[in-house]
Amino acid sequence: MERDLREAADLLADASILVFTGAGISTESGIPDFRGPDGLWTKMDPDDFTIGRYLASEEVRRRSWQLQLDSTHRVAVPNDGHRAIVRLWESDRLVGCVTQNIDGLHLAAGLPSSAVVELHGNVREVRCLGCGSTWPAEEVLERVSSGDGDPRCPQCNGILKLTVVSFGELLPAGAMARAHAMAAVADATVAVGTTLSVFPAAQVPLEAADRGAPLVIINQGPTEMDHLARVKLDGPAGTLLPALVDLILQGK
Ligand code: ZN
Repeated sequence: MERDLREAADLLADASILVFTGAGISTESGIPDFRGPDGLWTKMDPDDFTIGRYLASEEVRRRSWQLQLDSTHRVAVPNDGHRAIVRLWESDRLVGCVTQNIDGLHLAAGLPSSAVVELHGNVREVRCLGCGSTWPAEEVLERVSSGDGDPRCPQCNGILKLTVVSFGELLPAGAMARAHAMAAVADATVAVGTTLSVFPAAQVPLEAADRGAPLVIINQGPTEMDHLARVKLDGPAGTLLPALVDLILQGK
């Protein structure tokens, strides 16, 4: 592992780096992978999380809010993996961080919003599907916990929803465009804690790799793009990513 870490650090030594993250970077913050053995989909039916069901059924909305009320997202804090990416940013080595995660932990760790693209939205903001007004999620969750199980917009009585992208919803166009712009100028990509199997999100690291930018993968277990990686580091993101960033920044 030591030799692989060194090889990856050499590869990234002078590069402007795009970091692409998935659930594996947040497991050490206590957030289970939706698809993993303890994930949400072992307790819930993913069919309940389509935008169509959400709009059509008050019961689905009530269940979604209740689930969010009890969610580990509300108490999770960034870990050393998230902080390592902030160190790259502070050292002027990060093109940007594109994430599939909805936990908001890259921003909470201290990356500026200009450096983060949340492809699947964020649990920290709620939007009215009628008029587009937004609120911090905690404000709306307070209403839910005081008995307003299907909270409505105070302005237009529209349905409220977390800004998280549901099944059947398109990814936000602005987010995808920003991610592609970052992939287009990166010298190298580090994919962390993702099996690189969810499209179109996984197009972002693929696009940089297709251009010849070296790809380093940090993930516990195999990924769909291991064959494209110049270096694959198999293990937990919370220890491997900080170790890699230490080596990269020491090299300066
Ligand atoms: Zn509204």
